[in-house]
Amino acid sequence: MTREVAVLRLGHRPERDQRVTTHVGLTARALGARRMFLAADDRGVVASIEDVVERWGGGFEAENGVKWRRCIADWKAEGGTVVHLTMYGLNLPDVIDEIRPRERVLVVVGAEKVPGEVYDLADFNVAVTNQPHSEIAGLAVFLDRLFEGRELGASFPGARIRIIPSAHGKFAEGPSEGT
Ligand code: SAM
Repeated sequence: MTREVAVLRLGHRPERDQRVTTHVGLTARALGARRMFLAADDRGVVASIEDVVERWGGGFEAENGVKWRRCIADWKAEGGTVVHLTMYGLNLPDVIDEIRPRERVLVVVGAEKVPGEVYDLADFNVAVTNQPHSEIAGLAVFLDRLFEGRELGASFPGARIRIIPSAHGKFAEGPSEGT
């Protein structure tokens, strides 16, 4: 069963992708990944994610300025599996049972056009449907299928803010979140 998931974010353009890349990181964190590697230099994105981790807990790490070829090579050298999310890949339901037993999974998501080399370096090119959509949606569905929904019940140790789930209204413990 998969124990460790990291996300490698490719193609980030600081002038237009900050919000989406931040949401890639927050989605990765909320749905059970441990780390995000950002293959670009954008300390602001990493700082935003670290700010959420500091207030909402858990041990998620975000790393700025990662060299993507080195990241993939190191992950594979350490016995990890590389999964590239792309609409051109094999559809998720057809491959997820083969991926789930892998202990360490690096999920690669793009922004604009992903270098062709990535398709060869990946152990699995996986489509979340063969229709174009978004890296955030693809990542969320992939993680949920990988963890079979168990990530939805995860706790986040060290949280300063904690939601008190309720059918109506907004209740939380800790400093005001301003939402
Ligand atoms: N046109 C780009 C290309 O050919 O690589 C894709 C751009 S898309 C907005 C950004 C990212 O979303 C892709 O790199 C991929 O990781 C993810 N993505 C989009 N549609 C997907 C799908 N159907 N299945 C899996 N991932 C998808």
